[in-house]
Amino acid sequence: MKVATKFEQIKKQINEACRKVGRDPHDITVIAVTKYVSTERAIEALEAGIEHLGENRDTGLIEKWNILKDKPCWHFIGTLQTRKVKNIIDKVDYIHSLDRLSLAEEINKRANHKIKCFVQVNVSKEESKHGLDPENVVDFIQSLRPFENIIVEGLMTMAPFTDDEKVLRKCFKELRELRNQVQACQLDFAPCTELSMGMSNDFMIAIEEGATMVRIGTALVGEDG
Ligand SMILES: *Cc1c(COP(=O)(O)O)cnc(C)c1O
Repeated sequence: MKVATKFEQIKKQINEACRKVGRDPHDITVIAVTKYVSTERAIEALEAGIEHLGENRDTGLIEKWNILKDKPCWHFIGTLQTRKVKNIIDKVDYIHSLDRLSLAEEINKRANHKIKCFVQVNVSKEESKHGLDPENVVDFIQSLRPFENIIVEGLMTMAPFTDDEKVLRKCFKELRELRNQVQACQLDFAPCTELSMGMSNDFMIAIEEGATMVRIGTALVGEDG
């Protein structure tokens, strides 16, 4: 199916989720996660009117960046090894996976302007997942003050792999409450207005719970069906 057709469906679903809770669909940014697909498919996404692309590895990002340059807004959404920061830092607009001080130090050192970052939180506390434990998030963000090239735009999480709506909803709600807590600190380097949460299987629930950026791969640019 064409990306444009899939995007129309996704937009309908976003509208529906927004209507349910009285939100404005314009407040939701769709990031097309292109990590599994070709550059051609990414181009198709841009032609369909999608402006934000997400990649989770430095190699995938660089491959597509070399062709698309800064036409899209680039989001780095994957686990980021400290030694790979230099490969991507001049190419990305957002990093969604800030989860440790050593990474913040490296981003700050390599960047030549402010980088919009999301602090990744392991809300569900699954061992396999990256991210900070929720109780450490406020202290961690406070400790980012010295890094003049880092701006904390918001929080990011990956929900547990489940169809249980209750579990998903609880996870997204917890991230929202944590975001509100950080916002209440009124830190100039951490406006923390955004919530990066929701993927192909759970983006509607994420939106109902306050997501401002959804990261959708399979359902939007997947080449199957
Ligand atoms: C792959 C990935 C996504 C998109 O996953 P889909 O289920 O294909 O929508 C979103 N966020 C992150 C961090 C990912 O790695």
